[in-house]
Amino acid sequence: MGGMDPSGLPVSPLEQALHAARALVLADLVAGEVADADVVSLVEESVVQRRWWVEQWPDGAEFVAGLVAQDVQDALLERYGRWPLCPVCGAGDPHALEVEPELGPDPHWVCHKAGVKVASVGALGSATGGTPSS
Ligand SMILES: [Zn+2]
Repeated sequence: MGGMDPSGLPVSPLEQALHAARALVLADLVAGEVADADVVSLVEESVVQRRWWVEQWPDGAEFVAGLVAQDVQDALLERYGRWPLCPVCGAGDPHALEVEPELGPDPHWVCHKAGVKVASVGALGSATGGTPSS
């Protein structure tokens, strides 16, 4: 999980935003118990791509968490299936939550079926009742 920056260089706001996005999405993956090595590498790939993106558009730094969440969700859909599954709707077909806003600050997981905000990105563990060991 990294932690110390081995280069010792000051961390730019862009890097901070990317680190935060990575941590939030990983927290949600842990909450869903899908954070195996392959999945973590999906997060890393997304962060690399979004680093390029946010370097072109620094004003988008606060949107990065929502974008990384959506990247990982798309990648998981191809490899593993829907993620994260909606914890709100007890009956009916299992369905995934979606990130709102798609491009904006303070991203949330929402269930469009129930029309509710379920949790902030990074706080899915508290919404699903899962308690990741710490
Ligand atoms: Zn739902």
